[in-house]
Amino acid sequence: MSILEDKNQPKTPISELGEFKLIEHITKDFVAKNSNTVYGVGDDCAVIDCGDKYQLVSTDMLIEGVHFDLSYTPLKHLGYKLVAVNVSDVCAMNGVAQQITVSISISNRFTLESIEELYLGIRLACEAFNVDLVGGDTTSSMSGICISVTAIGQVDKDKIVYRKGAKENDLLVVSGDLGSAYLGLQVLEREKQVFQANPKMQPDLHNNDYVLERQLKPEARIDVVKLLAKKNIVPTSMIDVSDGLSSELLHICKSSKVGCAIYEDKLPIDFAAMTSAEEFKISAATCALNGGEDYELLFSISQNDYEKLKDDPDFTIIGHITDPSSGTAFIAKDNSRHDLIAQGWNSFD
Ligand code: ADP
Ligand code: MG
Repeated sequence: MSILEDKNQPKTPISELGEFKLIEHITKDFVAKNSNTVYGVGDDCAVIDCGDKYQLVSTDMLIEGVHFDLSYTPLKHLGYKLVAVNVSDVCAMNGVAQQITVSISISNRFTLESIEELYLGIRLACEAFNVDLVGGDTTSSMSGICISVTAIGQVDKDKIVYRKGAKENDLLVVSGDLGSAYLGLQVLEREKQVFQANPKMQPDLHNNDYVLERQLKPEARIDVVKLLAKKNIVPTSMIDVSDGLSSELLHICKSSKVGCAIYEDKLPIDFAAMTSAEEFKISAATCALNGGEDYELLFSISQNDYEKLKDDPDFTIIGHITDPSSGTAFIAKDNSRHDLIAQGWNSFD
């Protein structure tokens, strides 16, 4: 309770809205005043007109205990991942990231050596994704560590891809494979519990290399953006898979005012993820739909571009865009039809 609190003011718990409604609510009264603000809230990046190109800006913040657990996340990996997830948002606009800023708040629990580890990861990611660290901010925190990264990039004006451009009959395509990052997290959580129950037990992480790598060291698909350019394909809509395929597809459908149909038997799931899902007795398709953190690119293309990517192992066609009245459908292997629901991450539950 604060001395500034007005007892007559309504008090709505934030959990009533959830993340997306909260963002909509707090930003709805802002009107852009500058003519070079091309696109504000509502896509993977903000878009700013900077002359012959568009500039792209994306920010993400990770909080200890909410987004990561330092008992099994090495700081080096965390640094790498934070850069990757921001570069991934620039890729989702079909752009190329060029600079990042990094802001950290750290409690006195952290040593110089641990922050060096974090920055080693950030440096490795800067090398891998060809971006320059150009600034940031450093403050102390009451407890734990909080890191925020902003990525800045560019895209040719005629190549920019929003979430809002999908058209009926377009094909839905996803890069790489889905579900593994979530299974990696399950392995880490399981081993943490084993360790807490008996600290003498060594973690059993072997045979899980692929799913662990997908969780701890995700890659931004800068190669996919290059490949699309090489194939002369400009997707009609695109988003990166951070919260899970279902949630991202719903964003595309809502922004584009369309429906969709995707097929369980088309979902790209790695053999390692299949094996791991079996071990945890969960459905691999559910991991792909709702797991999140795969940082693959989900996009729609015109059917005219089908020939250009149909044989490319980097891409899988998982379904198509439908008219809005058909809804957002998931067709299971037994041909049963289900509505897609966003079971992505809700940080306010
Ligand atoms: P992503 O998952 O791609 O990082 P988010 O779901 O975090 O995207 O954000 C969705 C949109 O809302 C983005 O355009 C983002 O810039 C905007 N946004 C998120 N939080 C805020 C905030 N507190 N104030 C203004 N805009 C916000
Ligand atoms: Mg995104």
